Amino acid sequence: KRMITYDDVQKVYGTDPAEESVTALQDIDLNIEHGEFVSVVGPSGCGKSTLLHLAAGILEPTDGSIKINGTSVQSTQHQRKEVGLVFQHPVALEWRTVRKNIMLPVQILKENGAIDGDMDEYRERADELISLVGLKGFGDSYPNELSGGMQQRVTISQALIYNPSVLLMDEPFGSLDAMTKDELNLELLRIWRETEKTILFITHDLDEAVFLSDRVVVLSPRPGEVVDEIEIDLERP
Ligand code: ADP
Ligand code: ADP
Repeated sequence: KRMITYDDVQKVYGTDPAEESVTALQDIDLNIEHGEFVSVVGPSGCGKSTLLHLAAGILEPTDGSIKINGTSVQSTQHQRKEVGLVFQHPVALEWRTVRKNIMLPVQILKENGAIDGDMDEYRERADELISLVGLKGFGDSYPNELSGGMQQRVTISQALIYNPSVLLMDEPFGSLDAMTKDELNLELLRIWRETEKTILFITHDLDEAVFLSDRVVVLSPRPGEVVDEIEIDLERP
């Protein structure tokens, strides 16, 4: 089943005639199947983050269309629950416990009136996620009591609170030291296997991409175009 589809996507920044325009991406045709782990690599500024933000519905394409699980990403309400996002820097709020940080997306939607009711269900889910990402016993801790790696585990749990089928990750371990990064990459592979998510993972590190993925998509320097797609057939840990 096709989970992420880019159909002839182009993204130009600064379409206002007064600004200088930048074509970040062009001619992007990409299909990602259910349960696939796909990495996107390419030089700095080639449009990797743009590609991810388009799938997240944070940006709109200048041309072409993007679908997640068969639905156009323009319908953002649907989108919020269909994809989980993880960025490079942890987003945990200092004054909230780990459990409350994981539930934050739910609370925001609840306060907007976009969902109603049963927070208990999500509280239970948060506890399951705490175990899933290896933070058992830390549900009542505060972010500043955790290491950078543990904070990124919180961010991953937060991204999974709605049980989305797709995880979009933008250099999620880029600010961690090498050992912690290796540890979290192994954790991510375990989480991916246990949850059968579809993962789109951005990195500038080709070795990391090969280590993690089923397939590596290589973008050219700006404007980013897909110049290669490499199937990885290595046995992973
Ligand atoms: P990468 O993630 O590969 O480093 P980005 O997707 O962040 O690349 O950026 C692609 C190109 O688009 C870069 O040249 C960047 O400067 C430009 N760009 C990104 N965001 C904006 C923006 N909001 N306005 C104008 N140009 C932008
Ligand atoms: P680099 O010098 O680019 O870090 P490495 O081959 O040491 O090259 O590793 C690249 C990335 O691949 C690492 O940063 C890590 O994220 C991942 N990786 C490689 N080997 C392992 C491993 N044994 N366990 C976990 N992650 C690994």
